[in-house]
Amino acid sequence: MGEWGPFKFGDVRVKPGSREQAEIDLGDDPMGNPMNIPLHIIHGSERGPTLVVTAAIHGNEMNGTGIIHQLAFGSDHQAGTTDDHIDPEAMSGTLILVPVVNVEGMLLQDRNAPDGRDINRLFPGKKDGNQSQRLAHTLFDQVVRRADYLIDLHTAPNTRMNVPHVRANLDNTTCKKLARAFGTEVILHSNGPEGSIRRTATDAGVPAILLESGTSNRFEPDSLECGVRGILNVMAKLGMLEGKLVKPRWRILVRRFRWIRAPEGGLLHTLIDGGASVKKGETIAHITDPFGSSVVSITSPVTGYVVGLATTPLVRPGDPIANVVIVREKKLQEIIEKDTQAGLKPREHVEEVEEDEIEDESGSTLDETES
Ligand SMILES: [Zn+2]
Repeated sequence: MGEWGPFKFGDVRVKPGSREQAEIDLGDDPMGNPMNIPLHIIHGSERGPTLVVTAAIHGNEMNGTGIIHQLAFGSDHQAGTTDDHIDPEAMSGTLILVPVVNVEGMLLQDRNAPDGRDINRLFPGKKDGNQSQRLAHTLFDQVVRRADYLIDLHTAPNTRMNVPHVRANLDNTTCKKLARAFGTEVILHSNGPEGSIRRTATDAGVPAILLESGTSNRFEPDSLECGVRGILNVMAKLGMLEGKLVKPRWRILVRRFRWIRAPEGGLLHTLIDGGASVKKGETIAHITDPFGSSVVSITSPVTGYVVGLATTPLVRPGDPIANVVIVREKKLQEIIEKDTQAGLKPREHVEEVEEDEIEDESGSTLDETES
């Protein structure tokens, strides 16, 4: 292995122990102005892996952009000050941050690209394809292929909220390691949709995980804090930073969850919050007509933990109301119930417990691997 030299990106050279901004060129827009995707590159003073963090592939999912900003600049919004989370001189490896993948979607406050396409179904893209395929290709080719690991940041659409949780292919040992290190209470197993950056990167040998946190069009403090902590945890796990991992209060790795949907249209009155524990048969919401003269009650078909919840009152038949992670272990049910009833407590005062992995609907196993 040669010397640990500068990191080169196009014309930009990032010296060891320093940081630079760079951009991915996407050609010109209709007005002849150059379009690009901005990058922060933080290049450590010691040899180490390359971690890429992407946000706002869905243009209105802003929390990820806020997470990257906090991570890169700290809460004073200035690099090189005492509240910075990362000192390039004390870092190993290279961190490439992509705060906004879908720049034009973000300007329109839209999930999709201006051509109406979902960029996160088009990876690895096509060099001579349509505009969104070209964007996907350029990002994948110039950034993702240079990575050893990837974290992709998302939120719920603006009609719902997601309690922070990681999604990962738990059959991939490295993805599972990254997901556990990130440190959310809930980890959902999924390979990701066909054409998503996470699935395509993992298939191409760049293990990737995804954070779902909060809702779109917002900077939500809890989501930002969770994301920054999670990325720092992963960096510590990969040996890029010194530091101890902050562990979750409890942890469940799940393969099964249940969407509870509206049986009828109407106005939705939810009785629970995101992050609530629910029991099978418990009433979680009512749907009324505007005059309240007819009421339909919705009960949870399973015992579990609510990771996603509708936040807008208007519903049509079939609309998703709550995403419940199924919890079968009695002990874990009790711990989650105690935890969610306790409300907001400082993390260090809450019990650290065994974790639980539900392999399928019919059974569950404790996951006791600690790495
Ligand atoms: Zn998304």
